[in-house]
Amino acid sequence: MIVNSPEPKAHAEKAESPACRFLMCAPGRFPAEDIVNFGVEESSGVGDPATTHDQWNRLYRLLSDCAAVELIPQRESIPDLVFTASAGLIDGNRAVISRFRQPERRRRQRFFRKWFLDRGYDVIEMPGDTYFGGADDALFLGNLKPLVVGYGFNTTLESVNHLSRHLDVDIVPLRLSDERFHHLNTCFCPLEGGRLLWYPEAFDERSRRIVDSLVSKENRFAVSEEDAMAFACNAVNVGTTVILNRTTPDLTRHLAAWGFQTVRVELSRFMSAGGSARCLTLRLDEEQVPREGERATPPAQTCQVDFRGHLIDEGHLASIADGIVLAGGSFSVQRFEPGLSPGDRSLLSLKVSSPDSSRQEEILRELRKLGGICGDQETCPVQAAPVTKQGVAPPEFYSTTIFPTSVYIDGCWIQVEKQRMDGVIVLKSSEERLRAECCLIRDLEPGERVVVGFEGIRVYQEQETVAGEFKFMSSPVSSERSGESIIEDVAQTMLSIRRNGGRIVFVAGPVVIHTGGGPHLETLIRGGYVDALLGGNAIAVHDIESRLYGTSLGVNLRRGKPVVEGHRHHINAINVIRECGGIAAAVKNGIITGGVFHALIKTGTPFCLAGSIRDDGPLPETEMDLIKAQRCYAELLQGAEMVVMLSSMLHSIGAGNMIPAGVRMVCVDINPSVATKLADRGSLDSTPVVTDVGLFLESLSRKLISSG
Ligand code: NAD
Repeated sequence: MIVNSPEPKAHAEKAESPACRFLMCAPGRFPAEDIVNFGVEESSGVGDPATTHDQWNRLYRLLSDCAAVELIPQRESIPDLVFTASAGLIDGNRAVISRFRQPERRRRQRFFRKWFLDRGYDVIEMPGDTYFGGADDALFLGNLKPLVVGYGFNTTLESVNHLSRHLDVDIVPLRLSDERFHHLNTCFCPLEGGRLLWYPEAFDERSRRIVDSLVSKENRFAVSEEDAMAFACNAVNVGTTVILNRTTPDLTRHLAAWGFQTVRVELSRFMSAGGSARCLTLRLDEEQVPREGERATPPAQTCQVDFRGHLIDEGHLASIADGIVLAGGSFSVQRFEPGLSPGDRSLLSLKVSSPDSSRQEEILRELRKLGGICGDQETCPVQAAPVTKQGVAPPEFYSTTIFPTSVYIDGCWIQVEKQRMDGVIVLKSSEERLRAECCLIRDLEPGERVVVGFEGIRVYQEQETVAGEFKFMSSPVSSERSGESIIEDVAQTMLSIRRNGGRIVFVAGPVVIHTGGGPHLETLIRGGYVDALLGGNAIAVHDIESRLYGTSLGVNLRRGKPVVEGHRHHINAINVIRECGGIAAAVKNGIITGGVFHALIKTGTPFCLAGSIRDDGPLPETEMDLIKAQRCYAELLQGAEMVVMLSSMLHSIGAGNMIPAGVRMVCVDINPSVATKLADRGSLDSTPVVTDVGLFLESLSRKLISSG
């Protein structure tokens, strides 16, 4: 039943001299429990129907005094027909029908469509995967002025393309960023004479700048939050009359200074469902004078972007969505096949749109870094430029990440070899085969071809797990998980990798020896769990000192007390080894009979000692040429499936920069910030372990011996 329907006569009289024409719909049984509001969760809209109808009738009468008002019959089943602004956008004889994201709200579309068709409008429909909020989200700034489209909540940016194909107008898309104002007409109100009321905080930064350039300072007025929340911008303007729900004295004064008379009408019943005067009316007489010449607005840019991988467990989805939205773009999900259990791969296919080409390029660049495969990449080969000076990359070179990367060349994707961060990609051909390899800038030779720009490059942020039944656990710092259970995970992973013939590399600092961890590391080496050891001068010096004198930096390792003249021990150790000609020679001569380095040499396990400015001696094996040392580290890390970093910030960070994503890293340090910093390099297969390194090694070797 329709309660308090107005007399049809009222609008019929006005329709004969229609300066302004509006479409309204009586509330019927609105508010109803099943009202589908504009996303305002808490508003069920349930209230006293008589008050609702009184409020609507007041608006109807006020508007009928100054304009012709036509009515669309109410349907009992669709009470939200009352919000006629969401019927569509009118431009002359064209009616672009809204397309709602929520299926429940689409019910009213067909009634509005029929109404427009019956009156001879050219009805324009939005394509199936495009959403458009009609006159709630599209407002003309004035004649010969652009159509402003608010996107981000109920309208997708792709609708701009569609509008520009059908309407002969310039279109300016503005991004809505505050969900309290999720329709443009709740925060943006063009008035006669080129004036504008708006609430800038409801828009993103870029859109605010656009409005500033579109409407001069004296013609725009930023309403207060109080006015915005009272839906002052959801006003209906006819000539010099502005009909709205409520205003502060400040806004009334400002409107009066512009020559407008403010008419207030209480519309609280409708506001609880997200709309006020403007939402309850659809202006029917708007028609843009077609512009001469080229239209200023380029259509919005749209591209399909696919993501495959462990999107859900890696929290990838939020970064993807934020990346697009914060950069001013919008997206719609075309396909989403979520992995059902942790570790399962997911597929996400998005249609990404941006208001202009430079923004689109910026967004796609960021999405590629997140592993997105952009639709147009297949046809875009990778670009390369020659090196003209030894050790210098061409400008615009592509800087590599830890993530597996492929380049598109000669019609196929080639995986980049020796992946590491902070490198460049060099295109090489060997044995008539094209290859792409990560290199450091300093190693570039003139004539080599280096990848530049971002075209034809794919970055996969998913991380493969090694073959084997055990999936390494990505863990928070050990304070949140029992240290023992983390070490159990590490031991199981090491066993799995060893069973499958994979490589495990250790990086270790001298604290390993000071804390009594030396014998346990020795056990791991002799047990075949260490495929290479990376460290500095100190770990070798202290290991050898402990074998020769039972001390580490002069402290007796068993008693934990300094010994007399102990400070000389480490210098003596260096001197003894230098006299022998090196650690290997000292082992061969029987001078060293045990310890970490004895185990390395006896088992033929490769190691690299990288020099530093702190080094005493150094030992003959310590590589003081840092470039050679870095190369040696990189070679020993090649193919590693796991890297265990033990209490050396310097050497762990050095090694970490050379490790591609997907390599499991265990970062043991007593300082939580160091452990987290080491593990937090973008690779999700990293585990920070905050503990004493001696205790860690003791527990790890015990677990491995008992299980191995
Ligand atoms: P570093 O500062 O890079 O790392 C030491 C790390 O050990 C720190 O992060 C610290 O928090 C952590 N740590 C301290 N106590 C711990 C414990 N009980 N358990 C777990 N973690 C603990 O220092 P570095 O790697 O030892 O040395 C830096 C460079 O200086 C290296 O190249 C080293 O070879 C050299 N160095 C040389 C000599 C020498 O030649 N005599 C002596 C010392 C250091």
